[in-house]
This record gives sequence, structure tokens and C-alpha cells, in this order.
Amino acid sequence: MNDQNNNGNVLPEHIRESLARYTVHENITCLQCGYSGLMGVKGEKDMVSGSSWAIKFFSLLAVFGIVLYIAREQFGISFPWWLGFAAAVVFHFLIKNTKKIYECPNCQSELLK
Ligand SMILES: [Zn+2]
Repeated sequence: MNDQNNNGNVLPEHIRESLARYTVHENITCLQCGYSGLMGVKGEKDMVSGSSWAIKFFSLLAVFGIVLYIAREQFGISFPWWLGFAAAVVFHFLIKNTKKIYECPNCQSELLK
């Protein structure tokens, strides 16, 4: 009689409606409301923004700077200075730092993972 709520296989209607809006779903537990189950994947968020991209870029620059320094000091191979800069730029765009955005079908809060 009260099979909608007691049967664990049947999701409440508002959750099904919310899930139906998305084509991709994953099993996630919501930390806001405690819902555990399928969640719609809303999209992807690029985490490389603000100060974090600068940290990443200058870390890469430092790494390639050290590589070029070692190449010159240890092996006598002298690369032009801009090569390290170019490599840092290339790797900066190669290394993706995106997170998926999920929408909790129960409380509608956004989750990043
Ligand atoms: Zn929730």
C-alpha cells in the first residue's frame, strides 16, 4: 500500500523527475542531505582559475627551468630560454584539472567531484 516509500527500488517522484533532466548519472552520496544513489551529471567545471592557474603555470615554468638548467650544466646542451616557457605553456593546457558537477536530486545542491 505504501510501496512507494518502503520499496527501496522505487525512487520518490521528485528524485526521478530531477534525474530525468540529465542523460548521464553516477552513484554519489550527497553530504548535504544524506541522499545516496544516482545523481545527474550537470557538467564539468574547470578548476584552473584564479590563483590556481598561476600556481600551476609557475610550477611548470620552474620544472622546465630546472630541466633546461640541468641539460646545460650536466650535459652541455644549451636550449633557448623560450623553450622552457613554451613547454610550460603547452603542458599548462595539456594538464586538465576539471571536476564534474553533480546535482543532488533530493536537495538540488551542487556537488563537485
Ligand atoms: Zn542532497
